[in-house]
Amino acid sequence: MIIAYKNTSCYLYPMNKVEHIGIAVNALQEAIPLYEKLLNSPCYKTEEVASEKVKTAFFRQGETKIELLESTDPEGVIARFIEKKGEGLHHIAFDVSDIRAEMKRLSEAGFVLLNPEPKQGADNKWVCFLHPRNTHGVLVELCQERT
Ligand code: ZN
Repeated sequence: MIIAYKNTSCYLYPMNKVEHIGIAVNALQEAIPLYEKLLNSPCYKTEEVASEKVKTAFFRQGETKIELLESTDPEGVIARFIEKKGEGLHHIAFDVSDIRAEMKRLSEAGFVLLNPEPKQGADNKWVCFLHPRNTHGVLVELCQERT
């Protein structure tokens, strides 16, 4: 059966690309060398985001990055995620040109924003997360380079 998909938006400003994929890990110390071996490329940056209670490590794979996330606090979102679901895929981040415009568009389309204002994320980005209950279980991040 073919279900017709009715386009409700105009696609004027599509999301640019998958900017990175976030993976929750117990310990960067173990995960970094393993991912260096897996991807055959070096971790080019580690960064702590105190407001999010995470330490991150980045790998560049062509146009996309892999972001490993370790919690710095047992009450942090990554620690709680791992407690519930174990280590693994945590979120997909899309690069957008105008994060406020995307937040407005998505919230008008019925998606639930987890932060009503863009916040500072790792890797020099403004970020906003969408609640996974409206995205078939996927935590989606919007990100825009901070200028
Ligand atoms: Zn991310």
